[in-house]
Amino acid sequence: MKYAVTLIIILFLIGCGAEPADEVHTPITLEQPDFCVVLDFGHGGFDGGAVGNETGVVEAELNLAVGTLVMQGLYDRNVQVILTRTSEDAIGDTKREDMDNRGEILCQEGADIVVSIHMNKFTDRKVRGPMVYYQTGAAEGENLAQSIMDALTQALGREPRLASAGNNFVTRIPPAPAALVECGFLSNHEEELLLQDGDYQKQLADAIVLGIMNYLENNSEQ
Ligand SMILES: [Zn+2]
Repeated sequence: MKYAVTLIIILFLIGCGAEPADEVHTPITLEQPDFCVVLDFGHGGFDGGAVGNETGVVEAELNLAVGTLVMQGLYDRNVQVILTRTSEDAIGDTKREDMDNRGEILCQEGADIVVSIHMNKFTDRKVRGPMVYYQTGAAEGENLAQSIMDALTQALGREPRLASAGNNFVTRIPPAPAALVECGFLSNHEEELLLQDGDYQKQLADAIVLGIMNYLENNSEQ
């Protein structure tokens, strides 16, 4: 009988271990964070987003890769990070459900800012380079977006560029200042390859973190 019970327990444990481990990130809670950032990795699961013309790379994967580096950079600077999706999957079975769940996290109380990571695509395949969007009319969102834009253009040695006004779910919904970062164009051949390069992803992420920190430190009431 004892053996039978042990066997059942062992089988149960093996059964649990066989569950697919699809969570890439488990939440971390810092003890005394200086700031709190909601970080959104755009798309996921059934919603892959833009697809690279040459390699077929899916935007959702790249958002997760660059976003993960941003997350790590923020934790290194004692910033609490709240993620929307924590794995390759969407956070709902339908687009509607995903948006509802994402929207709730984007509006998290106590968040200082919201930053969403995406990759771009355009019909003119010569167009390249990062762009950062804020919600039209949102002054603080514009400051945040410009701070990230400046850090990106400087890090990549590109001409200064103004952040762009737009109307996107992730910048419209949150009460906190919000920016949507388009890291580059999957429709541009050279950039499609660069965006899949680990060193380039790190360069982008470091710049995004710098832009975020510059904004937060200039706006914190000390
Ligand atoms: Zn996107």
